[in-house]
Amino acid sequence: MPRERQAGRRRTWWLIRLSPPLTSRTTRTSTTAEFQGKVGFLGLGIMGAPMASNLIRAGCDVTLWNRTKSKCDPLLSLGAKYVPSPAQVASSCDVTSAMLADPQSAAEVACGAGGAAEGLAPGKGYVDVSTVDGATSKLIGERITSTRASFLEAPVSGSKKLIFLTAGDESLYKRVAPLLDVMGKSRFYLGDVGNGAAMKLVVNMVMGSMIVSFSEGLLLSEKVGLDPNTLVEVISQGAISAPMFSLKGPSMVKAAYPTAFPLKHQQKDLRLALALAESVSQSIPTVAAANELYKAAKSLGLADHDFSAAIEALKAKVQSSQQQ
Ligand code: NAP
Repeated sequence: MPRERQAGRRRTWWLIRLSPPLTSRTTRTSTTAEFQGKVGFLGLGIMGAPMASNLIRAGCDVTLWNRTKSKCDPLLSLGAKYVPSPAQVASSCDVTSAMLADPQSAAEVACGAGGAAEGLAPGKGYVDVSTVDGATSKLIGERITSTRASFLEAPVSGSKKLIFLTAGDESLYKRVAPLLDVMGKSRFYLGDVGNGAAMKLVVNMVMGSMIVSFSEGLLLSEKVGLDPNTLVEVISQGAISAPMFSLKGPSMVKAAYPTAFPLKHQQKDLRLALALAESVSQSIPTVAAANELYKAAKSLGLADHDFSAAIEALKAKVQSSQQQ
């Protein structure tokens, strides 16, 4: 190969190596001492309560609101304050986070009557950590920034060791990094509003399909006379091992579904992922099939059980096909 071409190749390689990454990823690095100001938290469900609790325990001055006030009580005894509307939380705090169930509740709490936007002002920040679709996140972001406050979307992956998938105002991202580090194990900054929501939906659509496939395996192993507990163990030692299988497998075998991630939220995420795929004309047939199973599980009254209860809908399907 001529020398110039070789040098050109080398230069191209360096250009690729040196070009900035599309996303920036950071593992836990900062402490709350680096955050100055008061923190608001809206939505104290399965996720919101421990997240707010971690902020309080780390020494933050936290003000709370939740639709069902009684859920605030354990956190008030840890030293948090309560005010009766999202607007009052936002007006009394420098940065307000929201962890709501779905797009409707996230939009209502941010933009509705008495919503957070009514209490925001220049210099304040709003961080929405709920799992919503990109369009809802943009709508919320536009309402928040119309008050000249700044907006960050930051849905989380994981139930306990959280990974924040942030997008939006980068200076707010840097400002709240110490808070994110108290609540989670790592954070990604993904650019424009909508990218965090999209990343979260892609992650959860993979997770939702994985549990359905795992459920099929557990039932089939039992049907052919194998011990499903042994299947869980075999999977845990191989290339397809995943903490989720090891964690949920033993209780799924016992038909126990203590709620960590409510099934209704998993189905919501599959519905939103299907719409996301539709928006770019991509087919996601496995996810579409999984979604049907979660819908069937909801109609069996399992909406508030853990999403691993999807296996019950599969059992019902198998049973009804055997009866025919
Ligand atoms: P959750 O336990 O069902 O909590 C939902 C929260 O939203 C509660 O505070 C609830 O208030 C509030 N809410 C619902 N509808 C409302 C409305 N119309 N107006 C005002 N508030 C409303 O759910 P979660 O498990 O904490 O999940 C919250 C979000 O995080 C969801 O978007 C979910 O997809 C996502 N997520 C969950 C997990 C997980 O493992 N659980 C992991 C990652 C992400 P009330 O107390 O009054 O009902």
